[in-house]
Amino acid sequence: MFLKRIELSGFKSFADKTALDFVQGITAVVGPNGSGKSNISDSIRWVLGEQRAKSLRGGKMEDIIFAGSEKRRPVNFGEVSLTLDNTDEKLSLDFSEVTVTRRIHRSGDSEYFINKQACRLKDIIELFMDTGIGREAYSIIGQGKIEEILSNRSEERRGIFEEASGIVKFKSRKKESEKKLAETEQNLLRIYDLIAELE
Ligand code: ATP
Repeated sequence: MFLKRIELSGFKSFADKTALDFVQGITAVVGPNGSGKSNISDSIRWVLGEQRAKSLRGGKMEDIIFAGSEKRRPVNFGEVSLTLDNTDEKLSLDFSEVTVTRRIHRSGDSEYFINKQACRLKDIIELFMDTGIGREAYSIIGQGKIEEILSNRSEERRGIFEEASGIVKFKSRKKESEKKLAETEQNLLRIYDLIAELE
């Protein structure tokens, strides 16, 4: 699996629709300070489901929408699409190419799409779980991240190994099942109470 293309529109400094095509191997993005290099990696993290505005270097999520410049008026929504080559089927979808899109409106409403089909944020997060490129994954190492990993508490560091070994998906499903089980136990207790009252 590799990242083939990013399309940005109205995301941070990318007011106009901008497409970046990547080829196999190493790609370097170079440019002067403040020209938008980090905005590209922010856009990747955002599509993958980042919900913390702070980690996208903003105060609130709407801050990622192009805010206008001397020559351009602000835009009403921001959108980013990532296209991944999935010929190795690392993503459990029956497509050789997967495009994930996220759109945010000034109202704060977000929309998510997988191959142009509307979906939930949860679907995107689950799609990338254990693939090494999820929002919490180790594939995006931002400035200061290495020091953060080294100084993390051992339990936090463990999370990185869990993602790498591919067990996060199962841990998350286990948590969900335990929650459902607890709810069912509560419902059962209520039913027993009702039966006792009726008898
Ligand atoms: P450096 O090399 O200094 O790290 P960089 O190339 O990584 O810089 P970025 O941090 O990606 O640059 O981009 C910063 C630029 O993005 C700033 O000029 C800032 O004004 C612009 N920017 C950020 N958010 C928005 C927004 N919502 N609307 C318009 N421009 C924005």
